[in-house]
Amino acid sequence: MSIFELMGQFDHEQVVFCHDKSVGLKAIIAIHNTTLGPALGGTRMRVYKSEEDALLDALRLSRGMTYKAAVAGLNLGGGKAVIMGNPDTDKSEALFRSFGRFIEGLAGRYITAEDSGTNVRDIEYIHMETKHVRGLSVSLGGSGDPSPVTATGVYCGIKACAKEKYGNDSLEGLTISVQGVGQVGKYLVDDILTEKPAKLYLTDVRKESVDNAAEKCRQAGVEFEILDPSTNDIYTKKGHIFAPCAFGQIINDETLKDFNYDIIAGAANNQLEIPEIHGKIVKEMNILYAPDYVINGGGLINVGNELLGYTRERSMEHTKNIYNSLLEIFQIAKKENITTDVASNRLAEKRMVQLSGIKRVYLK
Ligand code: NAD
Repeated sequence: MSIFELMGQFDHEQVVFCHDKSVGLKAIIAIHNTTLGPALGGTRMRVYKSEEDALLDALRLSRGMTYKAAVAGLNLGGGKAVIMGNPDTDKSEALFRSFGRFIEGLAGRYITAEDSGTNVRDIEYIHMETKHVRGLSVSLGGSGDPSPVTATGVYCGIKACAKEKYGNDSLEGLTISVQGVGQVGKYLVDDILTEKPAKLYLTDVRKESVDNAAEKCRQAGVEFEILDPSTNDIYTKKGHIFAPCAFGQIINDETLKDFNYDIIAGAANNQLEIPEIHGKIVKEMNILYAPDYVINGGGLINVGNELLGYTRERSMEHTKNIYNSLLEIFQIAKKENITTDVASNRLAEKRMVQLSGIKRVYLK
């Protein structure tokens, strides 16, 4: 497929190829849609098998950002950048500063942030060349670690799911599994423990992380069990809510075989291995699925709030609206007899269509 055919497939506005031989930079910036505002999305750095793979990744991820921002009620569009290179060996100040100059050249149509393979330091180098960067550390005037905000969004999303499934959003008496008690998962456990769940199943490949979460359950007087992450136990336990907070593609043929929960609601990105297939299977199994990009939108909302003059309070309040967005999505799914992930796409598209007449505002 030609580049324009690929762009046409998902309706991308702009793709920028960045090349600077002197520093070994090969990067692609994909701007999917700026109807709602400037395209925001992180810069990913990884080794790609081919240039086509890198382009496809940038196109796919930037499109996802458009939908995520639209559902989150942010005045932002969708963009994403990929740098082709090994994040362990190919990084340099010169490379990121060169990349920053390409972003500056886009005059605010694209705003970058951290993503997999890049860290705060890399983003600070980019920031030396352009102000179109968000998610910086607090010391540099940014919003800092988004994980507690993401966790609050996931917690509110879990409550919306409970409301939809059981008619009551209390988590009291429910059995909840948290897979991955890292940055988001650990805060999510804190939030869940503010209610009186019946039991928590916990799993993580890092012993220290899972031991910390277990200790919090002990202190809160909530029953818990640590499960071995190398087994399928977390999927086959009988519980109410499964909260995947470790990695993606976790909802697949294998894990759904003996799946024993009413609700899937967690922070991980790209939870459905093949959305068109596993979204439908989940629906047929009468499992309520909270679309990942909706329930984990707190991180983006946090960064997006930097554009308005950041306060954590406003960011948290905005994030709590994930509760209402999910209830609306569940209504659409029921009314139209479609999966919840398709319903969330429709909600995002509705907002873009409604606002497509507005004047686009780019950052100065
Ligand atoms: P993290 O790396 O801090 O936490 C992930 C945890 O999962 C780690 O503790 C890791 O040890 C554990 N883990 C890895 N493999 C596992 C396995 N096989 N079984 C059980 N546990 C395993 O990452 P995070 O920032 O907490 O993010 C978690 C997920 O949420 C990721 O998919 C991320 O993309 C997504 N997400 C995070 C944010 C955010 O604000 N941090 C925002 C949106 C989405």
